[in-house]
Amino acid sequence: MQNLIQEAIDYALTNSLLKFNTKYELVHAPLALTPYQISRELLDKMTALTPLFNELMIKVSRDTGFLEMHLELTARTDDFVSALLDIQRETGLTQADQLLISRNDFLMSAQSDLPGVVAPKQVEFNTIAASYPFLSGQLNHLHRFIFNSGRLGEKAGNIGGNVVENDPMKGIVEVMAEAVNQYGHQNACVLSIVQANEQNIFDQRGGEYALWNKYGIPTLRYSLDEVASQGSLREGHLMIQNRIAAVTYFRAGYTPEDYQTADAWKGRQLIEASSSIAVPNISMQLAGLKKIQQVLANPKVLRSFVDEEAARQIEATFVGLYLLNDLIENPAGTEKASESACRFPKNFVLKPQREGGGNNFYEEEMIQRLKTLNEDEREAYILMERINSPVHHARLMKEGDVQESNCISEIGSYGVCLTEGGVNRINRDVGYLVRTKMADQNEGGVSAGYAYLNSLCHPV
Ligand code: ADP
Ligand code: MG
Repeated sequence: MQNLIQEAIDYALTNSLLKFNTKYELVHAPLALTPYQISRELLDKMTALTPLFNELMIKVSRDTGFLEMHLELTARTDDFVSALLDIQRETGLTQADQLLISRNDFLMSAQSDLPGVVAPKQVEFNTIAASYPFLSGQLNHLHRFIFNSGRLGEKAGNIGGNVVENDPMKGIVEVMAEAVNQYGHQNACVLSIVQANEQNIFDQRGGEYALWNKYGIPTLRYSLDEVASQGSLREGHLMIQNRIAAVTYFRAGYTPEDYQTADAWKGRQLIEASSSIAVPNISMQLAGLKKIQQVLANPKVLRSFVDEEAARQIEATFVGLYLLNDLIENPAGTEKASESACRFPKNFVLKPQREGGGNNFYEEEMIQRLKTLNEDEREAYILMERINSPVHHARLMKEGDVQESNCISEIGSYGVCLTEGGVNRINRDVGYLVRTKMADQNEGGVSAGYAYLNSLCHPV
């Protein structure tokens, strides 16, 4: 065990598997020392879903009227959504081409009718700042080094050579280079929108260095405030530091905290008004809101965007998604979703329109929240059926301390989709994220401090 821990720490420190903790000390990223086992079939199924979901979300993002219609009520009490919608109204679809870097998050759901069988159920689809593509790749190397090599003997894991290779940042950097080429200007760069004091900075830096080393494309890092003061428009191009920002990659801008000044909003407006390929553009960010996820759960709405075959595969991953006033059936009869949630609090999650972890409401907190929301405020939330994941045993390491626990693992599928003139040029899956958390934890983010990075392995 001591060998295993030392091997993992050495590898993590040597290979940038790092982050800053809340005290801003440099530490290894929280990680699991027990890869999560799923079958090849299940992983293939999730991988095959990625281009279908990408295609759906590209279409939704291009239907600005649809987004406006379904977000209007939410915007009345949610100032953040309201401000994002205002920008969409002002700028429309300025950029002809789109690049989506997505992560579709799933929990495995135990099937009550089929013991031992699990099916992937969607938690959410991330269209902005999908994090951990680089650290996932580094952790995958660590796991393969330790477990596929058998260097610590049987006791270290007994999983043979079955850790599944994973390097999402490779595919992301590749498509970014394609997008810069497609933009077609000398003197181009990638503009990365970042937060000050980012704890997860190495996950971002890994991609920037790869983009430079492999493709000779520089990345400039700016906050939204700095874009307002130092960026400008020249013949439609977004200029910064005398370079053309061919691609603007948001690793910030998903939370109201990134827009504390009027300048930050000006920075966002400048980007949206330019022809820089924004990852994501404002409409794609809106398309990723939980409220839109709830609207797409309607079979007719879903089929207005994709064909029957795609719709069936997509909706097989949905669990119940409701407006608070939706009428739903349960053993007690027909009642409002919010009433059901108060009666069966363990079966629901209450979600506002926020990203980044730590914003949802569960159990007693959910009941209290539901009681205090007024009719207008209720439109800014959705209720989601709670996914019941199988519990497994895992060994988790944070800052050198290891503990063993019953855990749940969430799998994200990274996807990329690059369009040109409205047509998808590239649309594919580029790898996975596994986040393992203790079974009694409701929330799940790594940055939010709940989950540990992990890899997948197949049964021996
Ligand atoms: P965020 O945008 O903040 O990441 P999510 O919708 O992804 O919000 O929820 C955060 C975490 O809460 C997820 O990673 C997952 O662990 C847990 N969670 C969310 N929805 C459900 C659900 N329906 N069932 C079980 N757990 C959920
Ligand atoms: Mg999430």
